[in-house]
Amino acid sequence: MCGLALEQGDDDMLNTFSALNSPRRMWFFLSLVAVMLVTGRDAVAQENVSELKRRISVLETENRKLREKLDQIIEIVGDMPAVRHAGQNTAQGFRLFIEPGDWGSSSLADTKKVCESVTDVFLPHLADRAYAPFLIQNDVSGPITLYRRGENGEYIIRVNTRDRAWAQLAFQFAHELCHVVCNYRDANNPQLWFEETLCECASLFALRRMAETWKTNPPYSNWKPYASALADYAADRLTVHNSERESAQEIFERNRDKLEETGTNRELNNRLAAKLLPLFEAEPDGWESLQYLNKGQPDENLDFEVYLRGWHRRAADSQKKFVEKVAGVFGFNLKI
Ligand SMILES: [Zn+2]
Repeated sequence: MCGLALEQGDDDMLNTFSALNSPRRMWFFLSLVAVMLVTGRDAVAQENVSELKRRISVLETENRKLREKLDQIIEIVGDMPAVRHAGQNTAQGFRLFIEPGDWGSSSLADTKKVCESVTDVFLPHLADRAYAPFLIQNDVSGPITLYRRGENGEYIIRVNTRDRAWAQLAFQFAHELCHVVCNYRDANNPQLWFEETLCECASLFALRRMAETWKTNPPYSNWKPYASALADYAADRLTVHNSERESAQEIFERNRDKLEETGTNRELNNRLAAKLLPLFEAEPDGWESLQYLNKGQPDENLDFEVYLRGWHRRAADSQKKFVEKVAGVFGFNLKI
């Protein structure tokens, strides 16, 4: 209201003051102004109170959400294994989180046990390395490890399994774990078939190792009968290759175009994985060499031999011999 009066012209102002030529009128006018000021202030105060109430309501909602998030974090932190110290290879090296989803009759705790059993297989053969946590989801788009990381940098691994199909879960998870160890990346890579082959090999390796462990030391004592299911799952995938007559080198040379066309020709991946498996079973510390695979310039991916040589060059001295053996399977001599 005051603002309105000030916006009026000078003539209006003079007219207003000339009309207040008696004390009574002046008293009435001042009273009116006082009432208007108080009313205006009340209106402003009322407006402020409403705004404050609205903001408090918004803040309370945000506060509640933050408390819920905090509770989740506290739960997760409480569930986290102890930090792994340098030089200490323990089964706690991978931090696994199972996201609730359509797991059927599989409980989250049991699912985690199976996945931990997989990491137990590899961890003794991997050098100390800080891995981001794994968020394991159940999704029909799986099995897959997303290039995109989670909000907190975690790897997002999707498996497509349910109802206590532990062998299938272990098979899928071991494959995806292997991609992480390989430092998988979103780059043009015609040699992706090689990484996929290594990861199929990792699945077979894990199942066969777990089958042995679970005979005597399963995650729960009543899971011993699952040991044979794990062994059978791997055997089913290996027996089809018993009649294989071609060497890995022959398979590679005969199918090079097909392999470079798509990384996931599973029939070829599996045939080659069966050829590599004996190498890893004889020297399981060779799994550590995979971390040097995808660290070169992407243009080295264009040719398999160049890719192998880059891997060999980067590998730790203790791993070079193993890399040479793998390359030798495909007919490449990296020592020259
Ligand atoms: Zn894969």
